[in-house]
Amino acid sequence: MSSQLSNTSFKFIALGAGNEVGRSCHILSYKGKTIMLDAGVHPAYQGMASLPFYDDYDLSTVDILLISHFHLDHAASLPYVMQRTNFKGRVFMTHPTKAIYRWLLRDFVRVTSIGENSILDKDDNLYTDEDLVESFDKIETIDFHSTVDVNGIKFTAFHAGHVLGAAMFQIEIAGLKVLFTGDYSRELDRHLNSAEVPPLPSDVLIVESTFGTATHEPRLNREKKLTQIIHSTVAKGGRVLMPVFALGRAQELMLILEEYWTQHAEELAGNQVPIYYASDLARKCMNVFQTYVNMMNDDIRKKFRDSQTNPFIFKHISYLKNLDEFQDFGPSVMLASPGMLQSGISRDLLEKWCPEEKNLVLITGYSVEGTMAKYIMLEPDTIPSVNNPDITIPRRCQVDEISFAAHVDFQENLEFIEKINATNIILVHGESNPMGRLKSALLSNFASLKGTPEEVHVYNPRNSVDVVLEYKGVKVAK
Ligand SMILES: [Zn+2]
Repeated sequence: MSSQLSNTSFKFIALGAGNEVGRSCHILSYKGKTIMLDAGVHPAYQGMASLPFYDDYDLSTVDILLISHFHLDHAASLPYVMQRTNFKGRVFMTHPTKAIYRWLLRDFVRVTSIGENSILDKDDNLYTDEDLVESFDKIETIDFHSTVDVNGIKFTAFHAGHVLGAAMFQIEIAGLKVLFTGDYSRELDRHLNSAEVPPLPSDVLIVESTFGTATHEPRLNREKKLTQIIHSTVAKGGRVLMPVFALGRAQELMLILEEYWTQHAEELAGNQVPIYYASDLARKCMNVFQTYVNMMNDDIRKKFRDSQTNPFIFKHISYLKNLDEFQDFGPSVMLASPGMLQSGISRDLLEKWCPEEKNLVLITGYSVEGTMAKYIMLEPDTIPSVNNPDITIPRRCQVDEISFAAHVDFQENLEFIEKINATNIILVHGESNPMGRLKSALLSNFASLKGTPEEVHVYNPRNSVDVVLEYKGVKVAK
């Protein structure tokens, strides 16, 4: 523990996701205990440059590391932390997160270190398959709603919505309660529970700010727009490319498309317009979804019980491991990873299909600054080829964005923040501008409490900048 801090200081530092989206990693310390939250990579960078600023902190002091969900920007540097640094704490995640993490990171290692298109030198590999396997055995799993105590640090996982297995953590040290949302959503979707408000209040709230003060359209409108634009594109003979992260939101989109294809079977089904899910992980990951239906919402569990068939076994969607087995004749809908078109299957198809006007690239996830998914939305005349940046490819296809990213919008975030009722709010996981706008909106929302003991403080720290809060003695419960 740093010596200039008094025993009553709570300290927060972002090693990543401070005024950015990507490489989430935060450190909390209070009364000599240290907790690390998430260990991600930044999707716009490669190799060591994609890591959080681990050099700025002595990781050997960390007692526990909690992983909120399996997305790469929250979990993909975990094997590096566990195998390649002086970290010696315990690591916890929920059961579905661990099940999916295993396959995802194996794929991540393959894509970043071995593949023919490897952009990295051997020395710049973050970790190997062996690191991954060794680290996997040391990860402990937790159930939702049961409290774990590690040497005086208590923590509990709550449902966060967002993706299967995603958790919010409420952490308690010597009476001080901190809630970390990770990525979360409050809107009910087709398969997930929405984020819950923990029964006990929190003193400090660390909350995502992805969408800043923006407003989402209601889900039913978005679903309608999505199916309409896809239907009209394929009716013209066009191909639809939906870049998706292999797991998580892709399964929600598949539930929507499967239902729509069943309802419009005469025009679409029976291979008239095939839907593909193209990912190395497709089959393995669908097994995880088929296994953890019990962790999903009542809606999908009821469907499961009533029909006696697994809702994640699809009639109208086929799996592709790679593009060798794909015969590209006529209209089709392709969900392909990775979601930000950095490389791989989705990028190959983008380069193949984007010169044709009748084709459509449909972005449904959150696109991080610096990635092709963000760039394509500016509708550039040409894009660089991933294998040879000197070659440019004309872009004439349509580009559209309909968000199914499952992050809260401003109203949902504000409502949740008010329910948590913390007097210190730390914003993370947002680009500077949306995060700054969210901060101003929160401060004006809570302006009437200014100068009272309930005054709400809002912080938007950059990476590696401390936030220090004073909590005198053991906190008395509110
Ligand atoms: Zn996420």
